[in-house]
Amino acid sequence: MTEELNPFKIVQKQIKEACDKLGYDDSVYELLKEPERVMTVHIPVKMDDGTIKTFTGFRSQHNTAVGPAKGGVRFHPDVNLDEVKALSTWMTFKCSVVGIPYGGAKGGIKVNPKELSEGELERLSRAYFRAIAPIIGPEKDIPAPDVYTNPQVMSWFMDEFSKLKGYNTPGVVTGKPIELGGSKGRDKATAQGCAYTIREAAKRIGLDLKGATVAVQGYGNAGSFSAILLNELGCKIVAVNDSKGGAYSEGGIDPYAILKHKQETGSVKGFEGTEEILGKDLLELDVDILVPAALENVITSQNAANIRAKIIGEAANGPTTPEADKVLYEKGILVIPDILANAGGVTVSYFEWVQNLMNYYWTEKEVLQRLEKIMVDAFNKVYNMHEEYKVDMRTAAYMTSIKTVTDAMKLRGWL
Ligand code: GLU
Repeated sequence: MTEELNPFKIVQKQIKEACDKLGYDDSVYELLKEPERVMTVHIPVKMDDGTIKTFTGFRSQHNTAVGPAKGGVRFHPDVNLDEVKALSTWMTFKCSVVGIPYGGAKGGIKVNPKELSEGELERLSRAYFRAIAPIIGPEKDIPAPDVYTNPQVMSWFMDEFSKLKGYNTPGVVTGKPIELGGSKGRDKATAQGCAYTIREAAKRIGLDLKGATVAVQGYGNAGSFSAILLNELGCKIVAVNDSKGGAYSEGGIDPYAILKHKQETGSVKGFEGTEEILGKDLLELDVDILVPAALENVITSQNAANIRAKIIGEAANGPTTPEADKVLYEKGILVIPDILANAGGVTVSYFEWVQNLMNYYWTEKEVLQRLEKIMVDAFNKVYNMHEEYKVDMRTAAYMTSIKTVTDAMKLRGWL
């Protein structure tokens, strides 16, 4: 039988397994297996050459028992409804695993933003936000950045929504620039959270981070900041890549310098003093720590047996399939699952939203202290559950978060 690579089928399987381990009856699974609401929009955009092109976008709100829906918006050519539904479901459990009062959501547009001019991108972003506006709002659903969206796109979203309302509504979107009500520390929050969990994992397995070798797959926001922060913790970054190619150096790569090279040339490929490396080979390197920081389904039954890292910190959403999870667990590799490892992003998004609602802003130090406490507590909770129930870290993370969501649903009378 071929391995299931549909992320929505995968997340349903993950929920079912955790519900069974928790001894829940089928009604919990029935409530969690599909999003509460999904919106599909077709967005006509006037292109620079005068023609009209229609793009397809989605917003999925998985579960709102714990609080308003929360999650990013992705602009990518591979976006599809099942992917967005899966990503929204992961957001529900991500928020619960770190104990922030949100449900899960995700949005996306099927587009390659690199092929659009700045003007086309702005018109598309604004039109998408106008189209989904009826189901969005600071008390309803709060979007944020995800793959190939950034603070500028968030600014257009926020401005469009504010115009619709007739007053400034910074709390409708997070991941904004500081000038428009963004939070200090949000830019590197996903990677910061990931680095905290890797640090805790290293303590648990007795790995010294000084000189520990790291490979990072993907060099966008999560990947580049992960490399920088792990390097600050003493790790040696030996390989990084992006959609165009990879760079390897046994002696170590300066994560800032290679980021600069990527900004100048469009890729990490060809960075001075490095050899080229294929994505497949990067994942299988003999390193201490592997950080998948790009897209779904990169560690599958095809390559899991060849992975040699001791710790995998999933900065990306959904990088590992359930089949691969089993193999990694049997090999004794400590996987810090996405819903825990990359929860720093949404946690600082929560801080940003809180600051917007209060209209009172925190220092970076305050943000980082609060983030560290949340991430370390969540890591310990999941790790202890993984030891107590003798399950992998992902199942443990689902068990704690599904319990939180189920308790909220029970109290509301949904069950
Ligand atoms: N897109 C990010 C994620 O997958 C951040 C979501 C948010 O900040 O709401 O966690």
